[in-house]
Amino acid sequence: MFASVKSARITGVGERLKITAMPDRAPGPDEVLVRVKSSGVCHSDLHLWEGGYDMGDGKFMKVTDRGVKYPVTPGHEIAGTVEAVAPGVESVRAGDDVLVYPWIGCSKCPTCRAGNENVCDSPRSIGIFQDGGYADHIIVPHYKYLAKIDGMSLDEATSLACSGLTAYTAIKKASASSPENIVIIGAGGLGLMGIQIGKAITDSRIICVDLDDKKLATAKDMGADVTVNSKGKNVVQEIMDACGGMGAESVIDFVNAPPTAGLAFDVVRKRGSITLVGLFGGSFPLSLVTVPLKSLTIQGAYTGSYKDMIELVELAKKNTIAPMISRRYSLDDANDALEDLKARKIIGRAVINP
Ligand code: NAD
Repeated sequence: MFASVKSARITGVGERLKITAMPDRAPGPDEVLVRVKSSGVCHSDLHLWEGGYDMGDGKFMKVTDRGVKYPVTPGHEIAGTVEAVAPGVESVRAGDDVLVYPWIGCSKCPTCRAGNENVCDSPRSIGIFQDGGYADHIIVPHYKYLAKIDGMSLDEATSLACSGLTAYTAIKKASASSPENIVIIGAGGLGLMGIQIGKAITDSRIICVDLDDKKLATAKDMGADVTVNSKGKNVVQEIMDACGGMGAESVIDFVNAPPTAGLAFDVVRKRGSITLVGLFGGSFPLSLVTVPLKSLTIQGAYTGSYKDMIELVELAKKNTIAPMISRRYSLDDANDALEDLKARKIIGRAVINP
């Protein structure tokens, strides 16, 4: 058993993460103690650190009004090795490599019982509402939230718990009508996974939009058929042309800020769908008649279910998708990881190796 848990914690809005040692404890009933080997650094960790979300029109939604309590240890993309289990837990044992499903709900309501804990009204997500993976150890509240990943790269597996899982949910929603073209806006951690998953499970042409040429080059490497820089002069026309002139049947906005949402509405074709995923935030004026006249579907996608995470692990085991990890940080350098992500220096994902 370890002597104490070392973690990098958010103690207040925008304050530097504090490296803290907390007392250890043995896992209680159904719990599992995991030695964290890798923890993905998600843009949502930045929102948690910055205290909330831009709601537009000068309004800001504080995470503390949603039930977050500081101090809290961020990190919801967690892979590691089981160190100890509660008596009676048999599905995992010490030494197993595991991926943690972080999108925990109340586990009692009809939504949770149907397997959709990620959209429960009373979320208890790991790394947001309870301490997460920017730590050398974590106690996972129940063994049912673990997936065995023996043989996989633990750094790559982390992405499957959030960026991959969210992209999987979004692609499934966006491809329900078997679209010829899917426009993916944002080639960050989520968008790059979206491209790979889109190529793996649909026959759609993928057009990727970002404002950074380096990220667009990676998008191409990941399988995007066409890339478009949103800082260009004829962005809408370029996308329309790439889609054969009529626009895209599906647009997924992994940024979801006023300029990108506006672009989504500009390039979506009649009968098309827009899936909003990013939490950059803000608001923008919507021409209301456009929605019925074009018979549009506007939908949101929030993380994903445990079942979908398992499906994704299987895709990764077959090498159908390969998350891109471009930087690694120690726990002591967790602040640098967040600062670098904020400064848009990260291609794909960065991980912390505690
Ligand atoms: P990231 O920082 O890795 O990537 C963001 C990408 O968007 C970058 O490539 C950046 O260049 C690009 N971008 C930014 N502004 C742009 C613009 N105006 N036009 C075009 N491209 C632009 O972020 P990420 O980890 O991929 O997360 C993206 C967003 O999704 C964040 O807001 C995050 O909090 C959110 N998120 C949502 C869910 C969900 O379940 N809905 C889950 C995880 C993350």
